[in-house]
Amino acid sequence: MTEHVDVLIIGAGLSGIGAAHHLQAALPGKTYAILEARETIGGTWDLFRYPGVRSDSDMHTLGYRFRPWTQAKAIADGPSILRYIRDTAAEAGIDRHIRFRHRVVSASWSGEDARWTVEAIHDGEPVRFTCGFLFACSGYYRYDAGHLPDFPGIERFGGTVVHPQHWPEDLDHTGKKVVVIGSGATAVTLVPAMAGKAAHVTMLQRSPTYIMSLPAEDAIANTLRRLLGARRAYPIVRWKNVAAVTLFYRLSRRRPRLVRSIIRKATIRRLPPGYDVDTHFKPRYRPWDQRLCIVPDGDLFAAIRDGRASVVTDRITEFTETGLRLESGTELDADIVVTATGLRLLALGGIRLTVDGRDVALPETMAYKGMMLSGVPNFAFTIGYINASWTLKADLVSEYVMRLLRHLDARGHDQCVPVNDDPDVTEQPLMDFQAGYVLRSIEEFPKAGSRTPWRIPMSYAHDLVDLRYGPIDDGVMRFSRRPVPREAARRSA
Ligand SMILES: Cc1cc2nc3c(=O)[nH]c(=O)nc-3n(C[C@H](O)[C@H](O)[C@H](O)COP(=O)(O)OP(=O)(O)OC[C@H]3O[C@@H](n4cnc5c(N)ncnc54)[C@H](O)[C@@H]3O)c2cc1C
Repeated sequence: MTEHVDVLIIGAGLSGIGAAHHLQAALPGKTYAILEARETIGGTWDLFRYPGVRSDSDMHTLGYRFRPWTQAKAIADGPSILRYIRDTAAEAGIDRHIRFRHRVVSASWSGEDARWTVEAIHDGEPVRFTCGFLFACSGYYRYDAGHLPDFPGIERFGGTVVHPQHWPEDLDHTGKKVVVIGSGATAVTLVPAMAGKAAHVTMLQRSPTYIMSLPAEDAIANTLRRLLGARRAYPIVRWKNVAAVTLFYRLSRRRPRLVRSIIRKATIRRLPPGYDVDTHFKPRYRPWDQRLCIVPDGDLFAAIRDGRASVVTDRITEFTETGLRLESGTELDADIVVTATGLRLLALGGIRLTVDGRDVALPETMAYKGMMLSGVPNFAFTIGYINASWTLKADLVSEYVMRLLRHLDARGHDQCVPVNDDPDVTEQPLMDFQAGYVLRSIEEFPKAGSRTPWRIPMSYAHDLVDLRYGPIDDGVMRFSRRPVPREAARRSA
């Protein structure tokens, strides 16, 4: 039997649980379900289990707008974030709406019925749902495999190779020589976390990344929460952090040299005297051309200072039986090699979309407000910010979808579709970001456009005004009623 709901959400991660919460609060009369491929809630925050896994943005903005983050640590560990998502779902009864082990493979829109038919695989069997509105909260990368470059000789290495996306529960690194390949957020998290028990941890990077230390605890946030209580303090702290991140991002784009020099001076202060900062901590790109890495309380620098960890900037020639040979001729001995080499991006959970029998080629679509697709009716997706916390955008996308659904109901429409017929709009990448993992796959994603509402400003302030208060009927979004079936029309004549 095919089950019908008003709204079908795909994914029970941070975004999907947030979307359901917004829906229940704004439109309690709507029926909904969440289809989740995995066995459990949490997405990213359940999948990644490597030592030290944590956020690299503050939880006052990575937390939902509607649920204050009340813990002392603003840069929080993965299990605390997972608990926060699960508690949100349990307290609002959202967990009862989740169908676990349902991997959505396709969704086809019928204009005649104003409905999506969604096919999922459940325990190896195809199952079918229909819905009036489809809301993809399926993240942005593949869950089954991370990115692994072709390392020559990897098969002959006698030690253990692990990818952070598939961390073995029983891997004991006590007293072991560990090499972490990479220089992104995962590598800078893993190195100090493993340095506690390992004999030594080497971070092996091809090229340096900007790394900034921030206090793990936000003293202002903790004081305000004590004085005002969590509910009243939360929006103030959120805005404080939004403002700080926005100003720093803008300054980085406008005065890159100044920001580069600020980061460099702070890095030198935390490293031992005479440390080769130019080789290991002087990136070739401008701040925020790629995501800036945060380290709480300078933990990475402390591990280097104490001699528990070191950084090598070089290229791998090959794996040997006992470690890695580098282009400089250096040999690195290792018992464990961690390939923190990144994610493999995946658009919309790999779901095949069709509209009235036509396949939707994602790269030929344009993203409307960074959250709907040109020519694809009654469909929204969540991709958060790269230069700020994901959830800031996820919350706004959900708020906009609720406004859109209300608008449809109020006007008696049952279809809405953004249409790009402005000849002056040129195509832009959906994520305008130079990081390797983005550049590798961005061609498979929808495009953004050069002009509003197709432009993606990557600005919370802009999106807040636009998505929370901007007009729904803006001339670009087209509304319609489904055609009255001929039989019914004849009867009523
Ligand atoms: C290690 C790591 C650390 C990060 N740290 C931060 C941070 O500090 N700050 C920040 O802003 N962002 C961070 N991010 C980005 C992060 O992904 C987001 O913060 C957020 O968790 C994304 O939530 P989501 O629900 O949109 O996606 P996900 O967490 O990826 O969840 C998507 C869910 O959808 C399900 N799904 C996918 N496809 C299908 C399908 N076809 N059918 C059914 N279900 C499907 C998945 O199983 C999953 O449960 C980090 C990412 C990683 C990988």
